[in-house]
Amino acid sequence: MAKEYNIGIDIGGTNIKIAIVDTKGKIAFSESASTRAEMGYEFTIKNIINLIKDSLTKSKVSIDKVGGIGVGCPGQIDSEKGIVRALPNIPGWVNVPLAKILMDEFGLPTKIDNDVRVATLGEYKFGAGKGYQNIVCITVGTGIGSGIIINGQLVRGTNMAAGELGHVIVQEHNGEICGCGNTGCVEAVASGPAIVKQAELYLMTGKSTKFKELAAGSPITPELVSEAAI
Ligand SMILES: [Zn+2]
Repeated sequence: MAKEYNIGIDIGGTNIKIAIVDTKGKIAFSESASTRAEMGYEFTIKNIINLIKDSLTKSKVSIDKVGGIGVGCPGQIDSEKGIVRALPNIPGWVNVPLAKILMDEFGLPTKIDNDVRVATLGEYKFGAGKGYQNIVCITVGTGIGSGIIINGQLVRGTNMAAGELGHVIVQEHNGEICGCGNTGCVEAVASGPAIVKQAELYLMTGKSTKFKELAAGSPITPELVSEAAI
């Protein structure tokens, strides 16, 4: 049977997202489920398997029409061997052969890679980078990352750490402590949580009341800080 679809999975600290995508990159079906990271990786993998099965049923897409599964994971991934080396924000995921587990379950070719790199590939093939041979894709959220494509090739680097923009040190002295253990990283200064932390500090020192007015008692968010800046 012709392979009309592929399955994309995004593993996050809070949610697992799935999309059943046609060969032109159009999303035919999407859904999400809880990661439940605190239950350990076996539990999360069971959730991923159930999410795939449920999504195929709900979307009425026959598994015979699916060409393969691709998974984006927030951490260090050996994409050639299909092994999750470590996910810094989801404890317990150390040397997990995720590609093999999913391949055994569904009998489909399965590839896994770092989430920012697969997002970069997505932009290159179907999004903002379509038609270009050299692109940099920067993602800003809880963390900051980037993916690089040079001459149409995704750059991984010898230690699979190419594009780790979030951990470039930009504040040499008295920088904030970063999740990686260093101080003054881009991520410790400019990520969503870092922006909120700085705004809260501003409020405590009485430097600005605009956030307070805008927040009106609710927690400060990066969106609110951006609104206050305008
Ligand atoms: Zn860092």
